[in-house]
Parts: sequence; C-alpha cells; structure tokens
Amino acid sequence: MMLKGKVAVVTGAASGIGLAIALKFISEGAYVVLVDMDAKALDEATRNVKAGTFLALECNVTQPEEVENVLIQTLSRFGSIDILVNNAGIASVGTVENTSFDDFNKVMTVNVSGVFHFLKYAIPHLITSKGVILNMASIASKLGLSERFAYSASKGAVLSMTYSVAKDYVSHGVRCNCLCPARIYTPFVEGYLDKNYPDAKQEIFDTLSQYQPIGRMGKPEEVADAALFFCSDKSGFVTGNAFDFDGGVTNIR
Ligand code: NAD
Repeated sequence: MMLKGKVAVVTGAASGIGLAIALKFISEGAYVVLVDMDAKALDEATRNVKAGTFLALECNVTQPEEVENVLIQTLSRFGSIDILVNNAGIASVGTVENTSFDDFNKVMTVNVSGVFHFLKYAIPHLITSKGVILNMASIASKLGLSERFAYSASKGAVLSMTYSVAKDYVSHGVRCNCLCPARIYTPFVEGYLDKNYPDAKQEIFDTLSQYQPIGRMGKPEEVADAALFFCSDKSGFVTGNAFDFDGGVTNIR
C-alpha cells in the first residue's frame, strides 16, 4: 500500500500505459481520477474496478476549461490532489518535410498544451498537498526519433517542462519527474501493426522488439511499477529526473 489514501489524477487513463498506472495506483491504496477523451473506452476500462476507489472523467486535455473542471470535480469528490500523471499523448509519423501543419499543431496541442493545462491548474493544489508530478516523455525527448519530427519536438517539450516545473516548485515541496520510455507494447502498437503491416505483423513486431538492446518491448505494467516509485514517498529525494525506461536504447545501443 505505497499510496494509501493518496489522490491521483492520471490522464490518458482509458488505455495502455495510463490504464496500467491507474490500476496499479488503485491496487496500492490510492483514489484515482481516470481522465480520457474516449468516454466509451473509459467506461469499459473501469467496469470491473471497485466502486469508491476511482472517478472516471471524460476530458479533452487540449481544452483548458475541461481540464479545470476535472480538477474541481476531483477536489469535490476526494478533497485533495496529491499526484498528477500527465500521460495522455498521441503520435505522428513524418520528417520535417512531410509533416503537415495540421499534424504538427495537433501533436503539439495534445502532447504539450495538454500537459501545460494540467500543470497550470493542478500546481496550486499540489503545493497545498506537497504533491508530486510525473510526466510521460519518451526516448524521443532526448534522442529524437527518425521520421517522428512532431512527436520528438513535443516530447522534448515535455522534458523541458519537467525540468522547469521541478525548479520552480522545489521550494514549495512539489517534486516533478518524467519517464522516457522506449517502445511499450500497448493497444497503440497493436493498432499501428494492424493498420500498416497486416501481412507482416510478426516480422515488424520482431523488428520493433529488437530495437531495444534488451530484445523486447516494455510492458505497460512495468511502466506502472516505475510510475509507482516516482509518485510515492520512496522517491522522496528525486526531482527534476528524466528516467530512461528503455531496455538500454539511450545509453547502450
Ligand atoms: P494509448 O494510445 O494506448 O493511450 C493513450 C490514451 O490517451 C488513449 O486512451 C487516448 O484516448 C488518450 N488521449 C489521446 N488524446 C487525448 C486528449 N486530447 N485528451 C484526453 N485523452 C487523450 O497510448 P500509450 O501507448 O499508452 O501511450 C501513453 C503515453 O506514453 C503517451 O504520452 C505516449 O506518447 C507515451 N509513450 C508511449 C510509448 C509506447 O511505445 N507505447 C513509448 C514512449 C512514450
């Protein structure tokens, strides 16, 4: 029970990494507010979760008023906010030349402005609770990824926002870190394979796996274990950290 009685807000919680984090936190005694724009997926994801341990709220992170409303509802239901996990994010494929203005703006609005909105509205409450923030960055934040121009730019911003907030609020007792995962096997990856490589799924799956020196993709539950450490008192001495959760990609590839 590493998070007993803590109140956590997790964005992008209807699927993949965000859902794994939300379920892990609930199993560790937290009250979790699962935030996602996909109401149907949110409903399905929480169907078997014990009532009273969570709140599922539909919200598009790009809309500041919706974000503010999530935090108002969180406070009204659970009384405080101790943990914020900014996880909602989208990807896009392309070099700088073939990234459209629309694609660039969309990725930046979700991945960067979405994080900004939650930080902006949650920080006053996190100061009160001496809380903690975990942002979902990526190996793209530090390395840049081929043919992921907009995504790399957006995750670079998530890394910088992490450092900036960690500096500005360390004296207020608020910690802020980010995780930089390599490929994690989520529904997003499954959908990508189905859509782009229906006849070569296994081959591409193997290629994606071998990209990590450890020889496989990560699992959402493994990311959730790391998130638990960074959002619990076990990491009380850690802030302004960008943790390479990457099967060795960043440092030994
Ligand atoms: P996913 O697609 O399985 O889940 C993302 C969730 O975010 C979805 O439920 C989606 O509905 C929600 N979402 C998207 N846009 C939203 C918006 N505007 N408002 C509210 N909710 C929104 O993705 P995932 O693979 O679990 O990725 C989660 C995070 O981890 C993302 O930020 C992603 O960039 C990052 N990440 C993923 C990987 C990976 O390989 N899967 C690697 C590194 C980083």
